[in-house]
Amino acid sequence: MERLRLIVFNAVLGVLDYRKPEGLALEPGSVVVAPLGPRQILGIVWDAERLSAKEVPDAKLRPVLEVLPVPPLAAPLRRLIEWTADYYCAPISSVARMALASSAALRGGGTTTEYRLTGEEPARLTPQRAAALDALQGEQGSIRELAELAGVSEGVLRGMVGAGLLEPVTVDCDRPYRAALPDFAVPDLNEGQAQAARTIVQAVDSGGFAPFLLDGVTGSGKTETYFEAIAEALRQERQVLVLLPEIALTENFLRRFEVRFGTPPVLWHSSLKASERRRAWRAVVQGTAQVVVGARSALFLPYARLGLIVVDEAHEVSFKQDDGVRYNARDVAVIRARFEGVPVILASATPALESMQLAEAGVYTRIELPDRFGGARLPEVSIVDLRHEAPARGRWLAPRLVEEMKARLERGEQSLLFLNRRGYAPLTLCRHCGYRFQCPNCTAWLVEHRFSGRLACHHCGHEVPVPEACPECSTPDCLVACGPGVERIADEVGELLPDARVAVVTSDTLNSREAVGRFVAQAEEGAIDVIVGTQLVTKGYHFPELTLVGVVDADLGLEGGDLRAGERTYQQIAQVAGRAGRGEKPGEVLIQTRHPEAAVISALASGDRDAFYSAETEARRDAGAPPFGRWAAIIVSSEDQAEAQAAARAIGGTRPDHPDMLVLGPAPAPMALLRGRYRYRLLLNARRSAELQRYLREWLEPLTFPPGVRVAIDVDPYSFV
Ligand code: ADP
Ligand code: ZN
Repeated sequence: MERLRLIVFNAVLGVLDYRKPEGLALEPGSVVVAPLGPRQILGIVWDAERLSAKEVPDAKLRPVLEVLPVPPLAAPLRRLIEWTADYYCAPISSVARMALASSAALRGGGTTTEYRLTGEEPARLTPQRAAALDALQGEQGSIRELAELAGVSEGVLRGMVGAGLLEPVTVDCDRPYRAALPDFAVPDLNEGQAQAARTIVQAVDSGGFAPFLLDGVTGSGKTETYFEAIAEALRQERQVLVLLPEIALTENFLRRFEVRFGTPPVLWHSSLKASERRRAWRAVVQGTAQVVVGARSALFLPYARLGLIVVDEAHEVSFKQDDGVRYNARDVAVIRARFEGVPVILASATPALESMQLAEAGVYTRIELPDRFGGARLPEVSIVDLRHEAPARGRWLAPRLVEEMKARLERGEQSLLFLNRRGYAPLTLCRHCGYRFQCPNCTAWLVEHRFSGRLACHHCGHEVPVPEACPECSTPDCLVACGPGVERIADEVGELLPDARVAVVTSDTLNSREAVGRFVAQAEEGAIDVIVGTQLVTKGYHFPELTLVGVVDADLGLEGGDLRAGERTYQQIAQVAGRAGRGEKPGEVLIQTRHPEAAVISALASGDRDAFYSAETEARRDAGAPPFGRWAAIIVSSEDQAEAQAAARAIGGTRPDHPDMLVLGPAPAPMALLRGRYRYRLLLNARRSAELQRYLREWLEPLTFPPGVRVAIDVDPYSFV
């Protein structure tokens, strides 16, 4: 009898043994269906010697039922899954799950049925049908997807199918993507780009693990440069994975990709339709998806012939996943490249300190692009000291900034104001009794959104309409907005420059690819004079007429106890400054601050990036922070406060003594209540050489908690709330 070890898709059970039935062709990596009690579950056959499972006698083993018609996960991907589970202290089945798509995709190609409007316009319609008719123009998808899109029940849509308003369409899941052509439109690279491209093309050509830090100033043409490496991979018939931090970025990226290679790349992200997801996944495993562009989850897909990985804007914090498997896609991308034996390019104008350190140590090859493409100069940066140049009462923009914006408006140029705060005001209170609007589920104020007339929590999505009167003292018209958000800044611009056409750019306004497309088109046509935006506008965009960037509040990011606050502020401001003067006209940046003496701010003003990095490096070294030491967090939560506190204390009370570990807490998390759960945190600071993961496992694995308690481990945390 042959015993099989499976990773099963159940985080509690994780790894189970089964019996191999006669005649079933199985090998490590095969995707199978296995019985579990009365149910059937998915599993992946694993290398038995690499995982331990509960002892079960031969006689009790149940046979695997079926092997699914997909190629087995290859060894490099299996090693990556093991590494990720081990490093991030995550259940291996949760990591393995990220490699697979829907069970439909695993069942093979074939067809699926989607629906679209027939174009019939009946004389009389129920309000729901009318709403669906409106919402579904130009859309196609499953009944479930369309129901969600239109905000009506599936029953309503089924009725519309019966009435001939919607018709079924058969979709082939394995229809091929158009081929990307390596030589479709080859650009003329400048000398710096050409030299950088030669190095990475050569690495793709010779294969083997080779990590690069493509360190180029904003506007230096990093994208065109790594496109050459992609072209080389295409010539070699190898697949390429490009990780991008945010979906909003992709619109501009997709266009540039299509210009260069003649067709858009294959997309992978969480909001793909089921049929698109199935098609993309199947093309990935078959090797016909040549270039996959995705958010972090694209990292674990089972590429058939991976030849290159690119992580663009590699410093971005959003590569760190903060729920489920808490991994950093930038770091795991490098590990994947190592297991696959392929080059990996981390591209950034403001690399993470950790990446800089690795380049310094010679682990990464640094490739520099110190100049902007096409002779554009980096913008002139100056400081507006708000203590001496105060904005008028009740306003947020200093006179000098307003004057500069006026000058841009008169010259027909564009300005961009950056404030990383959605909505109108971050806090609303009652002038009469002092009542503050707070989220009932989170330790957070409700943020007023004037566009939608609502008060919203940015953590859990709780929303209420802005009331007419104070809910506490019932005084009418007594609510005051405290502090600015982008909507309020846009109002101020409207009052100061009544002729200016103002666009607010946040995740609220650019919430679809269409909206992003419209914004980019308008900005490029010159139909927008002033852009007011959050971090969504700090990168990716290239508007030649944009010559002024104003940072409304540079001190905002420095508040709070985040270990990387300085670095993050530096990156954000340097990136947004990088939007100015990308064309022929020179750019100017004004930074409003109350702390011009802060290391970050003065480095930004003097353009001395090295000074900033070396100051930051010393501070981290002193604190034993990454990359010189290591951090991990334990987050304990429950809907019941006493239960959460007791669990956190139990963990704190059993901490093993270890000379290389410093354990802080437990203490209530800064975000003590989040989505209805009470939270406590412990923070570990370890020496670099310490076996952090083993220490954590030996500490936590023997402990048991009530079912309502969740204990999450965050290795290399980015969030300290
Ligand atoms: P970065 O990503 O380094 O900030 P981009 O890749 O966005 O810079 O390049 C800046 C601008 O210069 C873009 O509009 C890009 O299309 C253009 N560009 C860069 N390299 C070339 C080239 N070799 N030929 C033509 N245009 C280029
Ligand atoms: Zn909330």
